[in-house]
Amino acid sequence: MTQQTRTGLKELQRLDMRIHSARERIRDFDPQFEEVEEPALILESELETSRNRLKEMKAEERRLERGTEEKRERVKRLDERLGGVRNLREEAAVSAELEMVRRALQNDEQEAMKLIDQVRKGEERVSELEATFMEASELVEPKKKALLADREEAIKDLDLLEKKREAFAAELDPEEMRIYDAIRGKGQRAAVAELTEDGACGNCFGIVPLQHQNEIRHGDTLIRCEACGVILAAADPDENAGEEGGEAAAGDVATAADAGSDADGAAEDASDADDGSASVEDSTAAVGASDDSGDDEEE
Ligand SMILES: [Zn+2]
Repeated sequence: MTQQTRTGLKELQRLDMRIHSARERIRDFDPQFEEVEEPALILESELETSRNRLKEMKAEERRLERGTEEKRERVKRLDERLGGVRNLREEAAVSAELEMVRRALQNDEQEAMKLIDQVRKGEERVSELEATFMEASELVEPKKKALLADREEAIKDLDLLEKKREAFAAELDPEEMRIYDAIRGKGQRAAVAELTEDGACGNCFGIVPLQHQNEIRHGDTLIRCEACGVILAAADPDENAGEEGGEAAAGDVATAADAGSDADGAAEDASDADDGSASVEDSTAAVGASDDSGDDEEE
């Protein structure tokens, strides 16, 4: 009868493996998001740099404009003064200053011309980058949306699996669950393995003593592999699967547990659940009766 508990542990292990890969699947989305967003992010930062440079050049342009305006004004005033000079010495002084200001003005104008050209090129660069960035962003959005939807789906799957596991584990013998969890830990280690046809452990393939083989096949006590420590379970009984229905019943209990969140299959699952939970109750009662599993652990 306790075979069913071992079968339950096997089913639990299958669930745990599915939960593990569901978690991995969710984690795998992170690099995918980065990959999708990267090109647009690079363009965005380039655009930001180009915009800042353009802003600086425009500020410099305005500063230069103010400077030339001032110098033109000074040239005008000096020209006027030159018309009203009273002697040659004064004329020479005003002329010299005028010459100096004119030269500075010329320099400023040349610099302004260069700057105008640079600003034009900068503006071209910015609008080019804006267009490329827009294009890249438009590509990102649908890809991101698809990824988000996929991840949402994966999270729902995991949630469902975890609920299924919780409901399923509640039906198993607590002591066997404790041993199972202790062996499995947080990793991917196998906690349950089937006894092979030739009497070896299905995990490490070490030969299991004959006495233990019988006990495993009988299923009264929990036997662990002496070599690797996994809980050993008999292979699924194919010929009396219909009669005992160990695994099938266990599976149905799990399906019934998430029937509430799965409206489509609810009616179908509910009808299966009746015999499913009944057989699990049987099995847990039987496990309680044979509480000598502790002895076997020592061997
Ligand atoms: Zn082993």
